[in-house]
Amino acid sequence: MIIVMKSGTPAIEVERVVAETRNFGLTPEKCIGNQKVVIGLVGDTEDINTQQIEQISPFIEQVIRIKKPFKRASLEFRYGEYSSVDVETPNGIVSFGKNNPLVVVAGPCSVENEEMLVETAQAVKAAGARFLRGGAYKPRTSPYAFQGHGESALGLLAKAKEVTGLGIITEVMDTSDIDIIAEVADIIQVGARNMQNFSLLKKVGAAGKPVLLKRGLSATIEEFLMSAEYILAAGNSNVILCERGIRSFDQKYTRNVLDLSVIPVLRSLTHLPIMIDPSHATGKSELVQPMAMGAIATGTDSLMIEVHPNPRLALCDGPQSLTIPGFQEVMGDIHSLSSFFARNGEKQFVNQQLSSAIA
Ligand code: PEP
Ligand code: MN
Repeated sequence: MIIVMKSGTPAIEVERVVAETRNFGLTPEKCIGNQKVVIGLVGDTEDINTQQIEQISPFIEQVIRIKKPFKRASLEFRYGEYSSVDVETPNGIVSFGKNNPLVVVAGPCSVENEEMLVETAQAVKAAGARFLRGGAYKPRTSPYAFQGHGESALGLLAKAKEVTGLGIITEVMDTSDIDIIAEVADIIQVGARNMQNFSLLKKVGAAGKPVLLKRGLSATIEEFLMSAEYILAAGNSNVILCERGIRSFDQKYTRNVLDLSVIPVLRSLTHLPIMIDPSHATGKSELVQPMAMGAIATGTDSLMIEVHPNPRLALCDGPQSLTIPGFQEVMGDIHSLSSFFARNGEKQFVNQQLSSAIA
């Protein structure tokens, strides 16, 4: 259930309404949007009549029941306003969301050594990426495959951050690693295989860092959003949803099936920012560029791309990793297409300058 307050409602009245809703045994969450102040009510609202809530204040414009199973993640919960996940990095705040420029996250599948990590970080930064990705703890199908360098890799991520100022995204697999990962990560990634690890979701939600939640290998859109709901319910509103391909019957030519229709579908269901990972979705470096273009055209807010200085020698996911020159080339295309769709930071900046010059 949400309460929409009338425009111009005094702040003290909003606070009074918030306090009153607690008497109904509900948890109120105030959201100050650009247009309206909305109070989301979470809890057992089944037996509560919307008129009972309306009677709390003459400043209440509307009380709306949210019928979807995901509440905080739903677009209605924000009264149709898309949220922005603002992440602090040494290079400044980077914002993810529908009303922000496209954000590119790039880096190797796993952190292998300092030299390759710093080289990749410097190159992706120069090409326009805002975040460095790299796994310290890798979820591998085989227990005999390279599992990631663990804690020492976190130290290398910290080093790359120090050198480049890029934000860091890295995956957590075990609740006991959350604290050390949170020391270096600006965004904590929950991978596809853990999308429904509910105890991990609750604890990551409580860690206070923005979370990148990847869609499970065969998760429905509703299951995806319910997992995001776990993180939001733990008190963390900074969640980015990442589509990384889903399983289908044909795995000969592509690793997974990139579900681009998820972008407009999610846009109609949730206020949360959307990321597309064409690398894990296709498993093939030559498919990354066309799928990245498709994702921009379909309206993604962000892209995650795997890059390795020498993909043939990569310890993990070499076939889908772009070389550094390959990434630079794809970034040229990303730049052009995101400008076309006015999702390019520079163009928006130029436009702002132009419009202020005209004004
Ligand atoms: C990754 O991003 O390194 C990764 C393992 O991705 P996913 O969970 O999507 O397979
Ligand atoms: Mn990978």
